[in-house]
Amino acid sequence: MNPTATGSQMIRCAGCGAANRVPIDKLQQGPDSGIVPICGRCKTPLPVREPFTVTDASFADEVEQSALPVVVDMWAEWCGPCRMIAPALDAIAAEFAGRLRVAKLNVDQNPATSQRFEVQSIPLLVFFKDGREVDRLIGAVPKGEIVRRIQALLA
Ligand SMILES: [Zn+2]
Repeated sequence: MNPTATGSQMIRCAGCGAANRVPIDKLQQGPDSGIVPICGRCKTPLPVREPFTVTDASFADEVEQSALPVVVDMWAEWCGPCRMIAPALDAIAAEFAGRLRVAKLNVDQNPATSQRFEVQSIPLLVFFKDGREVDRLIGAVPKGEIVRRIQALLA
């Protein structure tokens, strides 16, 4: 077992914005178990199996302080290839729930983070482990290639 997959993961509620700490073993159980973590404040189900939105303001907390590895999808509204890879990222977020999270960062709305990571071409996937960039993939790559990079990251 990956040593980072112990403890808990901070998950921000999409409804009220509250930060919820969820034990990682609970994240790994999946929807078939009937266990869906909910927000402690507003009781909305937490986005544990789908990509979540990250911003300049939340990047440090939600990506660089994340207990789990994070794949950040740097995208923009006008980017056609970004829409092409979105279904693959949705599927990956569900398949790897509890082991890895998928974040989406809109580069137009979050210039500080996109400049910091020198985003020149999108779609761009940046892979973070222990808060540091360890890999990146540029372009509308096939899902299999993204999964191969993730497996290397989790190994
Ligand atoms: Zn909430």
